[in-house]
Amino acid sequence: MKPTNSIFSGLETTVFERMSRLAMEHKAINLGQGFPDVDGPQDIRQVAADALMEGPNQYPPMLGVPTLRQAVADNNKRFYDLDVNWQTEVMVTSGATEALADSIFALVEPGDEVILIEPLYDCYLSLVKRAGATPVFVQVRPPEWKLPEEELRKAFTSKTKAILLNNPMNPSAKVFSKAELQLIADLCIEHDCYAICDEVYEHIVFSDEKHTPLMTFPGMRDRCIRIGSAGKTFSLTGWKVGYITAAPNLLEPIAKAHQFITFTTPPNLQKAVAYGLNKEDNYYASLESELKAKRELISKPLQDMGFDVLPCEGTYFVTCDFSPLGFDCDDVEFCQKLVEEAGVAAVPISAFYGTEGPRTFLRFCFCKKNSVLEEALGRLRKWMGEMAIS
Ligand code: PMP
Ligand code: GLN
Repeated sequence: MKPTNSIFSGLETTVFERMSRLAMEHKAINLGQGFPDVDGPQDIRQVAADALMEGPNQYPPMLGVPTLRQAVADNNKRFYDLDVNWQTEVMVTSGATEALADSIFALVEPGDEVILIEPLYDCYLSLVKRAGATPVFVQVRPPEWKLPEEELRKAFTSKTKAILLNNPMNPSAKVFSKAELQLIADLCIEHDCYAICDEVYEHIVFSDEKHTPLMTFPGMRDRCIRIGSAGKTFSLTGWKVGYITAAPNLLEPIAKAHQFITFTTPPNLQKAVAYGLNKEDNYYASLESELKAKRELISKPLQDMGFDVLPCEGTYFVTCDFSPLGFDCDDVEFCQKLVEEAGVAAVPISAFYGTEGPRTFLRFCFCKKNSVLEEALGRLRKWMGEMAIS
């Protein structure tokens, strides 16, 4: 029979799904795939439940229910002082993943180059390739994960159509500095490029300085596609509700892609997310402070065990270098050992590269109950003790 599409046929199942399956198989604590182990706020879920029963449950408008689009526009104003027209500049998607696919398919085509910053969230590369564009890689490297200015400059060419920016960044937990964002903005303007900004962790930033969308930089308002996700902001990853903010001339073709990818998203979930986005500032503050406490809970003990724990400025992930522990294996093998022998699942960082990257780093997800994090730390300690004896 004729071969199926070579890009998808050649892919492995995502590392997140693989690690979750392994975690189940080995009854391990799953600090691999990024999802909270508690359900999101009860009041938001209640709004969804009521809306499901009250209906309507038929196709909502293609761009999203008006209350959610208004709430996204209001959020842009409240947190970033961005004036956004909810009718022409906001669209609801089935998760940030769909928003990324819509944006990439709408913007790029064969002959275009798209700059990807490694380590990269896994769907970026396949989507760019499936759109027929050529990926151009720039790496931020541990332990600082600093954006290399000269390499970035060189990556921009006359063919560059877009850069994909994940800020705060998964898996490095990096928050791009203002100077780095300014550099990206300058290069996008100089080379007349778009920026697809994956900002799903926008409300999970731990420093005093809050998240700054690239869209707020002078000259970037009409070049950026800003993507958010209710999955992260409300700990409801299974709902797959995302949203895009972009200038009307960009949103229009993106909506054309959306109409043939999912067309729409369950109406009750949209209404509940609208309710969520309108919550008081203290909701957002407590999301951040609770996660910050969990970051503290896990980071120091991991460091004490001998991991080199890198700073975590945002997201709910912490990356560690395990080379000080003296194992003679790469990150994939190390994660396999951890899940099988220690009973703790993590994610190998090499899964986030399209080119050769570091091989001694792993990512732990810390949006879990404190008791679960403590149990995971206990298991790791015990395993390391056994390794030291044998
Ligand atoms: N981008 C990044 C950086 C992510 O970590 C994730 C995973 N949640 C997504 C996009 C996908 O988000 P969603 O579940 O809303 O599709
Ligand atoms: N974003 C999540 C992570 O980084 C995974 C989402 C998924 O499994 N598709 O772990």
